[in-house]
Amino acid sequence: MTDIYSLTPAAAEEYFARHGFSAKAVRNIFTDLYRNGAEHFSAFSATCARLRETLEEEFYFESITLADILQNENTVKYLFKLSDGCFIETVLMKQKYGGSVCISTQCGCNMGCAFCSSGRLRKQRNLTAGEMVLQVLYAMRHGGVKITNITVMGIGEPLDNFDNLCGFLDIASHPFGLEIGSKHITVSTCGIVPKIPLLAKRENPCHLAISLHAPDDELRNRLMPINRSYSLSEVIKAAGQYADTAARKVLVEYIMLDGINDSREQAGQLAGLIGNSRLMVNLIPYNSSPDGEFKRSGERAVAEFYDELKKRGISVTKRKEFGGRLNAACGQLRSDAMRK
Ligand code: SAH
Repeated sequence: MTDIYSLTPAAAEEYFARHGFSAKAVRNIFTDLYRNGAEHFSAFSATCARLRETLEEEFYFESITLADILQNENTVKYLFKLSDGCFIETVLMKQKYGGSVCISTQCGCNMGCAFCSSGRLRKQRNLTAGEMVLQVLYAMRHGGVKITNITVMGIGEPLDNFDNLCGFLDIASHPFGLEIGSKHITVSTCGIVPKIPLLAKRENPCHLAISLHAPDDELRNRLMPINRSYSLSEVIKAAGQYADTAARKVLVEYIMLDGINDSREQAGQLAGLIGNSRLMVNLIPYNSSPDGEFKRSGERAVAEFYDELKKRGISVTKRKEFGGRLNAACGQLRSDAMRK
C-alpha cells in the first residue's frame, strides 16, 4: 500500500497509464485530494468509480494528529504525532502577504550541531513525502491565512532524506498539488555538498539556504560536525554553483552566538569567504534553550557585524524574530514532549 499524499503527479500518470487510465483521470484524483480536500476515497467526487476502486486497493491516507499548539499574534507552532507515535514540529508564520510554513523532514536529526535542540535527540526516521505534504495541508486548512511560502527548515536535515524531499517538492510546487511555486520554496541545509548540485539540476529548482554559522573551519568543526566531511570552502563553492546553475537565491544563514562567532574580525573573515559570489547573508538571533551552553549576541555586536559585512560589499539582512518567545526554537517542543 502507498500513501496517497506521497504520490507525485508524474508517478501517478505513469502508474495509472499502466492501468489504462487517462491523464485527465489522474488530474481528477489530484483535484479531489488537494482542491476538494477529500480525506477518504468515498469523498472523491471528480474521480470515476472504477479509478476509485483501483485507488482503494493500492493506496491509503496517511495522517498526522495535532498533539500540542502554541501561538501568538503572528506565529503558530504545531506539535504533530505521526501514525507510529513519533513527534514532529511545524511552524506557521503569518506575514502581511500571507503565511509561510516551516516544515520538518525527519524525526530528530543526526547532524549533531552543538547549538541545536533538534539534534539532541537523534534521528528516529526520515519523514515520507506525504508527511511533509500533510504538515503544509494542515496549516492551509487550519491556519486561517493563505499559505504563500514554504521553508524546509524545521527538524531534520532535508538533504539527508533526499528522495522524499524531492517527492515533496514535486507535489508542493505542482499546479495539481499544493501549488506553491518553486520560487516560494526554500530548502535549508547544513551543507551536504554532493546533494547540492542534484537539487540544482531539478526542473524548477527552489531557493537554497546554507547554515554556515562560522567563518573558519576550526570553529565550524566544533559547532557543526558535518564540516569535518565537507569543509567551508567546499560548501561555499557548491552554494555559488547552485546560484549559477539553478538561477535561484542562495542565502547564507548565520546564527549570532555571543562571544563565539560574532566579532568584527569574524565578520571580515566571513566577507572574505563570500567574496563576490552572489550569496546573501542572513543574520539570525539565537533561540537559547534552558539546557544550552550558548547565548544570543547582544544588539551592539549584531549591529557591528552587520556594518562590517555591508562595508565590505556583502548583501546582508537581519532576520525578523517570530517564534523565539514561543519556545519555538528548532526542536524544543518536540524535546519537551518526549521528555514527558
Ligand atoms: N538541517 C537544516 C535545516 C534545519 S535547521 C539546516 O541545518 O539548515 C534550520 C535552521 O535553524 C538552521 O540554520 C539551524 O542552524 C538553525 N537553528 C538551529 N537551532 C537554532 C536555534 N536554537 N536558534 C536559532 N536558529 C537555530
